[in-house]
Amino acid sequence: MQFWKKITPKERQIRIQKALSENVNFSYDTSLGYPASKLDGKVFNDEAPFLKDAPILQTYVANPNHIGCHTFGDSEKAFRGTQEIEREVLNVLAVDVFKAEPNSFDGYIATGGTEANIQAIWMYRNYFVNKLNAKPTEIVIIASEDTHYSIPKAANLLMLDWLKIPVDFETRNIDAFSLENIIINAKKREKKYFIVVSNMGTTMFGAVDNPEDYIQILEKHDLKYKLHIDAAYGGFVYPFSNKASAINFENQKISSITIDAHKMLQAPYGTGVFICREGLIENVLTKEAEYVEGMDLTLCGSRSGANAVAVWMILFTYGPFGWCEKIRILQMRTEWLCEQLEALNVNYFREPFMNIVTIEAQNINQELVKKFDLVPQKHDENNQWYKIVIMDHVEIDHLMTFITDLKATIQKNIETIKV
Ligand SMILES: *Cc1c(COP(=O)(O)O)cnc(C)c1O
Repeated sequence: MQFWKKITPKERQIRIQKALSENVNFSYDTSLGYPASKLDGKVFNDEAPFLKDAPILQTYVANPNHIGCHTFGDSEKAFRGTQEIEREVLNVLAVDVFKAEPNSFDGYIATGGTEANIQAIWMYRNYFVNKLNAKPTEIVIIASEDTHYSIPKAANLLMLDWLKIPVDFETRNIDAFSLENIIINAKKREKKYFIVVSNMGTTMFGAVDNPEDYIQILEKHDLKYKLHIDAAYGGFVYPFSNKASAINFENQKISSITIDAHKMLQAPYGTGVFICREGLIENVLTKEAEYVEGMDLTLCGSRSGANAVAVWMILFTYGPFGWCEKIRILQMRTEWLCEQLEALNVNYFREPFMNIVTIEAQNINQELVKKFDLVPQKHDENNQWYKIVIMDHVEIDHLMTFITDLKATIQKNIETIKV
């Protein structure tokens, strides 16, 4: 760990105060040119005494704008203090968690995983066009059928085809045989450039794709590709529960990663993280963004610096060991649930390093769904799965009530069959 450590509340407060003092202060400084100010003083009192001990709220009221990308070239000087906080967050995630070399990457805190995924696909589409002279029709996205809907959304926006790779019903593994056939057929249809999205934790199952499945087949067919990891769901779980994970920047084939801080890290919404190797993000430069200091390299425009501060606060409150402990606890609860399901002979899917259990629908009736707020894979009569996500607030007591009710339902079913 080069950047990530646990620090005291006092140290955190001092660090954030220092960052805010390096930003423009709309209460005292003369600042004439920006369509920006602190939050409306009639509604948000910046002298409220409790703000003193609440660095995140203080930042919300100061209202820094993190427009642009702060790992590349110049940025707006007015907010350089909190931009540095954002760089510290990116260093922790890119270097300490996902094993990039220091100063070898670009990135920013996006509105969420959706934006970070679109940013990645946009960047690769332009890379293929700019650097390899690709025609847009020769570029295609490949990802499994369990992939998040932000990928078809990106395909629609960027006018690219998405080749959907089937997965095995039980293991949720990519069907390598279908993958190869789909790639061979795409090649016949003049597709030459492949944007691969490999999941670290699918939304419905928590399944983790093996990027080597894609790498092997694409290289066997001598095709050009770029590989993005969608770790929106699993990015704050899998690298901690599976210390041997090789899905990180040490693998030279992996070029970018999406990590949502507003899911497992419990940060406020608006904290999706996008990280890519250096030398790529320039492909989405919008030259026309002339009034913004520095280069415009991000999908969104204005965004709150308070989001960076919120993620920073969580990371530096726990530190790496504290975070590992938290994940261990979630893993133990997940294991408990799986053992109970096995004792009841109920079929489920669980990636062993993830905190999500997806149960086959035949055992689950509508009463259980309602009472426990279970999420179906599909909101129609074809649904085959319901999931339970073991978050911080999902304790063994809750799971125990669920298991008791499930047992009673199964018992009742057996009795009906007997009659
Ligand atoms: C939630 C999720 C996303 C999208 O994230 P938002 O933050 O809701 O935009 C993308 N990919 C995966 C795997 C997800 O679970």
